[in-house]
Formats: sequence, structure tokens, C-alpha cells
Amino acid sequence: MSRKYYVCTGCALLCDDIEVETDNDVVTTVHAACRKGVARMKGCSNPMECTVGGEKADIDSAISMAATILRDAKNPLIFGHGNSSSEAQKKSIGLAKKIGAYIDDTSSFCQGPIIEAILQDKLKTCTLDDIRHKADVIIFWGADPSNSHPRHLSRYSYFPRGQERQRGWEEDRTAITIDIRRSETADICGDTRFYQIPMGGDAEFMEALVSALSNKVPKTSFDFDKKRILELGNVLKKAKFGVICVGLGLVYSLEQLEPLFTLMNKLNEVSSFHLMPMVGQYNMRGFNQNLFVETGYINRLKFNAETGETEHGNNYSVVEVLRDMSVDAALIIGSDPLSSLPLSIARYLAEIPLITIDPCNNLTATRSTVTIPCALGGVESGGTAVRMDGVEIELKKIIETNNPSDEEILTRITEAM
Ligand code: SF4
Repeated sequence: MSRKYYVCTGCALLCDDIEVETDNDVVTTVHAACRKGVARMKGCSNPMECTVGGEKADIDSAISMAATILRDAKNPLIFGHGNSSSEAQKKSIGLAKKIGAYIDDTSSFCQGPIIEAILQDKLKTCTLDDIRHKADVIIFWGADPSNSHPRHLSRYSYFPRGQERQRGWEEDRTAITIDIRRSETADICGDTRFYQIPMGGDAEFMEALVSALSNKVPKTSFDFDKKRILELGNVLKKAKFGVICVGLGLVYSLEQLEPLFTLMNKLNEVSSFHLMPMVGQYNMRGFNQNLFVETGYINRLKFNAETGETEHGNNYSVVEVLRDMSVDAALIIGSDPLSSLPLSIARYLAEIPLITIDPCNNLTATRSTVTIPCALGGVESGGTAVRMDGVEIELKKIIETNNPSDEEILTRITEAM
């Protein structure tokens, strides 16, 4: 009997080698996934209920009330999307267009600028499979995949043998960590390959590295051994297939991407380097790509319901539209902004009519006027998603549920408008 493999939606690595045992539509055992993946595949410990005004409701009433809220709103916001299938994301974009909504996702305050630069061909990238087969120098910059993407090192970036890396990590790969603290990934890379920089020192360290790559003496305003920067420059120059895995630590530290562009240009003059965004939520990149195809932008925009045109910019990010209180209702899909946004902004969000679509209960759901439980993506519903490297992956349904998929819920709300 052939073995059946599923895709884990615990993070944007979308590991596709997962085996699952089930009993009466309950996932009982998960093989090959990391602990984070097992927890995801086993489902919500606290599932969300279907409610209207805090009282249990049937799905028809919840959908009807959600449509009423969105219809009555002058400036609705649709937010979330990172934990939704691409099919649901496209429905959400269609709904935003129809009602003239603001639409955004968490990338507007994390990996968005990097993904945008990749989609605009401003940064050279590669696939995870390229990394497994070819990468000989891998830099984890402000990233700790041992915790954020637990199988990154074992499946792709460090431990596996690859077609051009037959001798694996012992002889064929050099892994380097640049971070403000010694992470678990830094421990794996070892003392000589860990470069500890001060908080906010990333841009300056990049400039120093560009100097080293240009055979000049590197300078930093903070105390750092110049010889170590020169040594690092020599390792990078010799790379046949280098990769910088960009984590949130680096994204949050850079006020603009110019230092990263300069470093990547210099690296590609002297060797060959690629960039991999360490995307967290399993289909955040999918949302960015789907919106980009539709509008030319990856996030932070508002549709005009009459013309279908968009306005885009920082003023349209979820943070800004909530800060200036221009939103009067919000539809939240697979996200918990009340837990993740600053309190001053979250407080306003909690005061307006909220609709939450999610398989699991969360803080935002507890403050929502309407909650609609959906099937858990990749477990109770299928579809497609986009891995952190831009590769589309098919998600397979494993077990049955009474909850509709988020795509079906969004279709029904759109039809009810
Ligand atoms: S690394 Fe990510 S996708 Fe892979 S098993 Fe763990 S949580 Fe799932």
C-alpha cells in the first residue's frame, strides 16, 4: 500500500512529508512534523463557536449578520489572511473590492518590504530546494529557525546532503548567524560563526561587510573586531551558492532596505548570493502574491467600490487606519490582532463591530459581534498555499468537519451582501 503524505500548515515551510493517523475524524498521531507542526495538525485546543452578539447562533444567522455589518459600514477593514488558503484570500480580495474596504495583513509590519522587493525583482532569491541541493554558505540574519521554523536546518539549509552538497554540514556547508543575541541557531553554527551585533547595528554591520568585500578596512561605531569582519568577508567571497535567510530581527532593525540592496549587489559582484524571507504564517506570502497579481501592491491598500481602483501606502496599513480611527467595522480572518497590536490601537479595534472567521477561539473572537468557525486549513480543508520561497503547494484535506472552509464562508458573505 502506498504511503500518503500531507502538508503541515504550522509555518511557511509547508513540510510536505507528513504522515498522519486518524480515528473517527480526529488526528491522533502525526509523524515527521516538529512539535509546532504536531500541535497544528492535532487542531485547536479551544475551538471557536458560531455566535452573534455573544450568543450561540446558526451559521446562516452569523453570515447574514456579518453581511449586514459590512453593508452598513462606510469604511470597513478586512485583515488577517496569513493562515488562509490562497482560494480564501482571493475571495477576500474580491469582497474588499466589492465593498470598498481597506485590506491588509501582518506583512505590513513584518516581512512585507522584503517580499515586495523580491516580487519586484529587486532582490535575488532562490527556492528551498536550491538551498538543499546547492547552498554552501548560509547566513541566518536576525533569524532563529531552530525555534521559528524548526525543520529549516534539517530539511533544507544545514544538515541535509544535497545534489551538489554530498558531504553535508560536516564539510560542505558553512552556517553563520548574525544576531543581537546568541540564539539556538547560533549555538548550532558554533562560536566562530556567530557574529553578535548591538541592537539596531545591522545596517552599520552591512556597511562594514561591504567594505571588507571591497578589500577596505571595515569600520563600525561599536566595538567589533575588524579581523573577524574581514574573515567573514573572505568566507562570503568564496561562496559558490550563498543564501541570506532574513528574519524579523533584521527586518525590524532596518529603517529602509538600501543597506541590504547594497550588500546584496556587492555580494553578487564577488560571488553568488540569494535571499530567503523567513516568512512565519503558512500563507502570508500567498496573500502578498495574490494581491500583487490583482493590484500591483502586496498589502496596505483601500479599494474604491465604484471604480475598483486602489489607493495604497503607509497610511492604509492596519496600524495607521486604526490609529486615526478611520475604520468603522472589521472582518478578521485567521488572525488575532487584539493580541498582537499595540494596546492603544487594539483598544479602538475592540470598540467597533468585529467579525472573526477562525477555527480557534482567540482574544479578538471574544470581542467580536459575529464569530464564524471555519475548517482548519491543511487538516479539515484543502486548497493551495505559497511556501516562503514562492513555490505553490497543494494542501490536502485529512479529516471531515461540520465547519465550512474560510473560502466557503467568504463566498457566502459576498453573496449575502
Ligand atoms: S517546520 Fe513548520 S511546516 Fe515543518 S513540520 Fe514544523 S511547523 Fe510544520
